Amino acid sequence: MKGAEILIQGTVQGVGFRPFVYNLAARFAISGSVANTGRGVFIQAAGAELSSFLAALENEPPPLAEILTIEVREAEFAAEPGQFRIIRSDAGQKLSATIPPDIAACKDCYQDFTSPDNFRYKYPFTNCTNCGPRFTIVEGIPYDRQETSMRAFKMCSACQTEYEDPANRRFHAQPNACPACGPQLGWHDQNGQIPCDDPLAKAAAALKDGKVLAIRGLGGFHLAVNALSAEAVQTLRERKGRPAKPLAVMAASLATARKFAQISREDEQLMLSPQCPIVLAPKKQPFLLPENLAPGVRELGIMLPYTPLHHLLFCHDDCPELLVMTSGNLSGIPICTGNDDGVEKLGRVADNFLLHNREIVTRIDDSVVKNVNAKPMVYRRARGYVPSPLVSYWQLPQLIACGGGLKSTFCLARDKQIFPSQHIGDLANLESFEFYLESIRHFKKLLNIDPALAVCDLHPDYMSSRYAQELDLPLYKVQHHHAHAAAVMAEHGISSQVLAIVLDGTGYGTDQTSWGGEILQCSLTEFNRLGHLANFMLPGGDAAAREPWRAALSLLHHSGISRLPETLKAIGGEKIKPVQAMLKNAFNSPLTSSCGRLFDGISSLLGICQQNSYEGQAAVELEYLASQAAVSNWTDELDLYMKKTAPPCGKEINSAKFVKTVLDLIGKGTTVSDVALYFHFMVIDRFSKFAARLAGETGIGQVVLAGGCFQNSLLLQGFIHALRQRGLEPLTGSKIPVNDGGISVGQAVIGGLKYVHSVTDESNQG
Ligand code: ZN
Ligand code: ZN
Ligand code: FE
Repeated sequence: MKGAEILIQGTVQGVGFRPFVYNLAARFAISGSVANTGRGVFIQAAGAELSSFLAALENEPPPLAEILTIEVREAEFAAEPGQFRIIRSDAGQKLSATIPPDIAACKDCYQDFTSPDNFRYKYPFTNCTNCGPRFTIVEGIPYDRQETSMRAFKMCSACQTEYEDPANRRFHAQPNACPACGPQLGWHDQNGQIPCDDPLAKAAAALKDGKVLAIRGLGGFHLAVNALSAEAVQTLRERKGRPAKPLAVMAASLATARKFAQISREDEQLMLSPQCPIVLAPKKQPFLLPENLAPGVRELGIMLPYTPLHHLLFCHDDCPELLVMTSGNLSGIPICTGNDDGVEKLGRVADNFLLHNREIVTRIDDSVVKNVNAKPMVYRRARGYVPSPLVSYWQLPQLIACGGGLKSTFCLARDKQIFPSQHIGDLANLESFEFYLESIRHFKKLLNIDPALAVCDLHPDYMSSRYAQELDLPLYKVQHHHAHAAAVMAEHGISSQVLAIVLDGTGYGTDQTSWGGEILQCSLTEFNRLGHLANFMLPGGDAAAREPWRAALSLLHHSGISRLPETLKAIGGEKIKPVQAMLKNAFNSPLTSSCGRLFDGISSLLGICQQNSYEGQAAVELEYLASQAAVSNWTDELDLYMKKTAPPCGKEINSAKFVKTVLDLIGKGTTVSDVALYFHFMVIDRFSKFAARLAGETGIGQVVLAGGCFQNSLLLQGFIHALRQRGLEPLTGSKIPVNDGGISVGQAVIGGLKYVHSVTDESNQG
């Protein structure tokens, strides 16, 4: 039969693509077949309406499918006229298809598990082709039940019938299950399983009683308590050793979420999206929740139920309408996934355990997203997004980019696709590093990528850099802040020269000092450091990241101020004096241009935060106070301020001016909030005017904003405003985190293109 062979690549497996093709074939009277292959979905098609069929393939894909490429070629093949077949998966071909991410329960499934007359009524593992677990249960490809942890469950005849019926919503839904044949819940305490008819009812009652629960979910464990109870929240904090870090919550419904947070239209869209991330939304004032839930911060991290288990838990009358749902891990180590592991590690934290027997193959945290200026910014790219590829604007060789140190991710890339891993965490921790190694192995296998080169950070002591060095591959080392900038450029498809303002915690510089307040001019393969925050000492090195008052003392030292403000006197002479001596002798005090440490220091000088119990605490609390002073027309105030200042000259931005002004204002009795906002104005003013000056000198109008400090949305909005006022085009990350979670993407593009250039150069010379 004469017709066409079609290969479709992208996220096209496990998303109901074959039934979609089957139904299209029926609609246009197409004969032939469709198959899932290792390379993607492969179709043989013949018929009079072939072109309409092709157009519909492209234009009407199922909601979760993401088509990256469609290749069509004329072909002759054997097929019965009038017949269109779905062919079994073929594991023999070259494997390079993609696995879909895990998707929140769909509306139809919600109907099924909440309808008393449905045979999946109250069944917490209901799913279909449009929703359910994917990446977390996949062991290998092609994506087929045999290659998932659902292999352990044999479908009953009812499930099997659905699975085989192309007209059914569960046609080839690999995790298809029902109460008769699928995974089950169990109710446990530290000593083992407690027999009971309804574990969810027990869980709801325990939560009502203020108990701490460990709930085994989709990508790992959550620790859950009643978010309306200050006492329950406090118990969780004490047992988990997490004194202040804001806790994420899950709301029974959007209506509940609205009681406690200001949910914008964009927030609502995100919360109801198939990815169902944690959304950072401003707390609603007056704030009706316990103060210890998210102390000292502007936003509440809030999400909606995303598995049938969550929905069914909230269906119980006993269940509080808002639950803390925080990662089920011990401080600093990855979330637990296995039943035994969870019970062992969380045994001292949780009173009870809600477990199940569907194994989690791949661990994944909840994603975190915030809307800034009505545009989503992904802070943590994990569940719902990973392992979907990002489209690269450039052809890349097969490579691995190893990422950074904290908030680590790695990337694999091939052709025009970049595959960032899920958020992995601080690699200095052994368990996290093992998770990193295991994830790299898994990604390489799933994506069938055999890297021809490796890319890593310039920092020789990052575990990711050490790993890269041992790979025996051509290695490209990328400066941390260049990688931050390149991640944003990659997202926008920009390969020309840009200016970049990178405000960050820390990154290893080419001069071996720690950078973090940088103005670069860069392309995707080269960068030039044109300006930076003037270096200051960090007495005690890493200790300064935990104790903001160390940075404050250093800032005073460099500003030539010897009189301690009241806020620092409170720390006590026995702590202060040795650190002052270190500064005087420049002993154990590495130099840095870090903007993150500057924010720490100012937060300390203002008496806001003297101890970071989590990364970025001092800066986050500083932003919160500043935002309280930032009334609706605050950008007008910013403009007024910027009219009064002279443009910067030289190469360095000196923080002495910031420090002196802050102390002056405190002395005059200005409120801490007002000073905090004024400090933001000063930083925005200096850096954006610096960039404007460089724009005039270089003719470059695009200014990338990157680095962890831009998680501060007041700072980001101020910069965007100030740069636009100067006729410049600010660019920042949306899909790729601006924090260290994004640097592997920047590395992938920089290293990949350098490699391509070097290979081309060699062949030209040869
Ligand atoms: Zn569904
Ligand atoms: Zn069944
Ligand atoms: Fe960074």
